[in-house]
Amino acid sequence: MTIEYNWAGNYGYRAERIATPRSLDEARDIVTTSRLVRPLGSRHSFNDLPDTDGVLVSLAGMPQQFEVDLDWRTVTVAGAMRYGDVARLLNEAGWALHSMASLPHISIAGAIATATHGSGNRLGNLATAVRGLEILTADGELRSLTRGDPEFAGAVVSLGALGLVVSVTLDIQPSFEVSQRIFENLPWAVALEHFDSVSSSAYSVSLFTDWSEESIGQVWLKARVDEASAIGDTLFGATAATEPLHMIRGISPENATEQLGVGGPWHERLPHFRLAFTPSNGEEIQSEYLVPRRFAAAAIEAMRGLAGRITPILQISEIRTVAADELWLSTAYGEDAVCLHFTWVRDQDAVEALLPAIEDALAPFGARPHWGKVFIDRHAVVPSLYPQLDDFRDLVLRYDPNRVFGNAFLERHIGV
Ligand SMILES: Cc1cc2nc3c(=O)[nH]c(=O)nc-3n(C[C@H](O)[C@H](O)[C@H](O)COP(=O)(O)OP(=O)(O)OC[C@H]3O[C@@H](n4cnc5c(N)ncnc54)[C@H](O)[C@@H]3O)c2cc1C
Repeated sequence: MTIEYNWAGNYGYRAERIATPRSLDEARDIVTTSRLVRPLGSRHSFNDLPDTDGVLVSLAGMPQQFEVDLDWRTVTVAGAMRYGDVARLLNEAGWALHSMASLPHISIAGAIATATHGSGNRLGNLATAVRGLEILTADGELRSLTRGDPEFAGAVVSLGALGLVVSVTLDIQPSFEVSQRIFENLPWAVALEHFDSVSSSAYSVSLFTDWSEESIGQVWLKARVDEASAIGDTLFGATAATEPLHMIRGISPENATEQLGVGGPWHERLPHFRLAFTPSNGEEIQSEYLVPRRFAAAAIEAMRGLAGRITPILQISEIRTVAADELWLSTAYGEDAVCLHFTWVRDQDAVEALLPAIEDALAPFGARPHWGKVFIDRHAVVPSLYPQLDDFRDLVLRYDPNRVFGNAFLERHIGV
């Protein structure tokens, strides 16, 4: 019986119950006495990744934690805290994170568990800022891992398979200001021929399209105010917007972060959406595939070839970039990536009917699906896309030999 739904309402959790422990001891009691457990974050994933037939554990009721270490330039926070809340506290203290996802509403532990990312040629995903983790494992032990430990690179993007991430230590840097501008109608030919130049034209760059138009509808540039910018009122033939915009035409931009080049704190410009509002559109499903950036033009062309099937069930697509990293289950493991994102209308059957065609078209490029979004993988190629998957499986079996934190998603896509 469905008890609760995810944020998008497209997935009902099968779990017997959702537990919200208020202390580490309460959380320990749950993991050591339950047969099946899964960690639940802010419920922003679109698939059955967090689910279980046993107990879902939300750490949102645990004590907050926020400790800046000036010597190490890190902040240690409770895993269930939202990025937006951590970012506000950090900025007040004069510090910043390197990147943010499109929305600030997601939990820290839930976001890093799936390699959630923002955009930027030089910016790794959010998990790359992790310097340390504390994980409550099924035997009740609290295990600490720090960058450089042999198991660390496997434990950050964990898909919740190792235990409950109770606290996370993140790299920080001095606070900085960002100004955001939107450019309209970037010709496809220019975008494809000069993709690297376009995507490196600011600290963070996102291209929005519905694939059907003659040009790319919007390019969102987020520039650091302290970095010299040579951008005028045109960008490779696209022209600067003169009023605030939502990336989906016809929707009010009131939930979008400030635009028109007005400088402001990093955490109020790097996300596309404001913390106090519903992000994106609300009624939606999302999918996203990460492709090695050297294939960007060919992969984008492949999607344009499917425009006739994509556009009718699409709200908007975002094309963005993320830098390579060494985290075993990161979707950018070993390769700078271009991310092909789809915000669909909330029609699960139609989306699932189309995804095999998209996945087939992207298969030649070794596309890795976002772990937290809807994908199919009917040819079971996902395991072959992660060179260190065997090491991850071994890690899981060492941390959780009885597979208390196992579920159908992990069996299907990870084989453990
Ligand atoms: C409107 C919207 C916009 C989005 N924008 C982006 C974007 O810009 N970039 C991007 O990459 N993704 C984006 N996403 C996807 C989202 O960032 C990921 O699905 C993310 O994992 C959600 O985090 P969550 O806290 O909601 O985790 P949940 O969805 O609740 O869980 C996700 C995974 O994290 C695990 N987990 C959660 N908490 C813990 C914990 N304490 N310890 C261990 N494991 C834990 C769960 O078990 C599960 O495996 C977006 C989603 C939505 C709804």
